[in-house]
Amino acid sequence: PEYISVANLGLALGVKQHVFLAQLAELGFEDISKESILQGETAALVAQEYGFEPTVDVGEEKDLKPRPTPEDTSALPQRPPVVTIMGHVDHGKTTLLDYLRKSSVAAGEHGGITQHIGAFSVRMSSGRDITFLDTPGHAAFLKMRQRGANVTDIVILVVAADDSVKPQTLEALKHARAAKVPMIVAITKVDKSDANVDRVKSDLAAQGVEIEDYGGDVQVVSVSGKTGAGMDDLEETILLQSDMMDIRAETDGMAEGWVLESSIKPIGRVATVLVKRGTLRPGDFIAAGMVYCKIRSLRNEAGVEVDEAPPGTAVEILGWKDPPDAGDMVLQAPSKDKAEGATRYRQELKDREEDVATMAVQGEERRERE
Ligand code: GDP
Ligand code: MG
Repeated sequence: PEYISVANLGLALGVKQHVFLAQLAELGFEDISKESILQGETAALVAQEYGFEPTVDVGEEKDLKPRPTPEDTSALPQRPPVVTIMGHVDHGKTTLLDYLRKSSVAAGEHGGITQHIGAFSVRMSSGRDITFLDTPGHAAFLKMRQRGANVTDIVILVVAADDSVKPQTLEALKHARAAKVPMIVAITKVDKSDANVDRVKSDLAAQGVEIEDYGGDVQVVSVSGKTGAGMDDLEETILLQSDMMDIRAETDGMAEGWVLESSIKPIGRVATVLVKRGTLRPGDFIAAGMVYCKIRSLRNEAGVEVDEAPPGTAVEILGWKDPPDAGDMVLQAPSKDKAEGATRYRQELKDREEDVATMAVQGEERRERE
């Protein structure tokens, strides 16, 4: 909703302030002062009293909105599952990710050169893709979840076979549960002589993880990021899990996604964006928070320019005027005007919220003095 202060409304109507306040009191407003904030509709009623015919611009048109999710998604194309790996420090997350990265068909094509963009897709030998997120900063993750976004479809909980459940394992478990997404347990370092897979299983069961060996439905896979043992099994388990979830998204229409991270590189301001719906291409206009971007180019995790980023993939996007914030939602706009207008509108809303807060504080202080 739009707001206006009594002072500004009085100015707009061309009425002297003390006269206006007295007339408002007559109209039945209680406890009214020049700092009082009126909602758009209320202000419009007052303006009508003064013979104006105001139109209330509720701003709906100015912002960009995600599309409603179709009730029946079964006809939509499948998209790659987005998978996040979590677990205790030194339990082998990076090693596991590196192994997957190197085993990707794409990595082979590009000579295995990969750059860190916080997310990467792995092409399975079956031709299907899985997108992995390097655990992004907790703050960004929390921000996305607070906005009701499950950027990740599946969580892989990594537990080292020689170390079992540790504080950050429990922390990760908490996050996975809060995100309400299915979890797969990867017991790593099974190549080590002191590996004890059964102990990990019973420790997890003791934490309420319903693993399949104990009659639950959480799949457990034993792997080694060193030798590659069990890795095929892990990939298959992920695909099986995603098939059960039937992960689908529109490849057309205005795209939607999330900023995973943003930085300034020698090539310019870049942001890694995970596309959730629609397809992004160079020349498209997108807005994230208070900034917009005409996409100059898209690069995959190998630093290779791509013509498009379909749903379920993450790309580094160039062309931002200012860096967007990690955790911000990305919405495509049909034109530059729309993208720019949306960010300007959001800025105005934020300024106004700050104004209202300031006025509230000032009002409070004044009342205390009186
Ligand atoms: P992270 O902190 O969870 O990312 O853990 P890292 O992937 O950095 O691994 C921590 C240490 O464990 C490194 O020295 C790795 O080489 C080692 N490591 C990771 N995975 C395995 C594994 O499967 N087998 C063995 N033997 N060592 C591993
Ligand atoms: Mg690591």
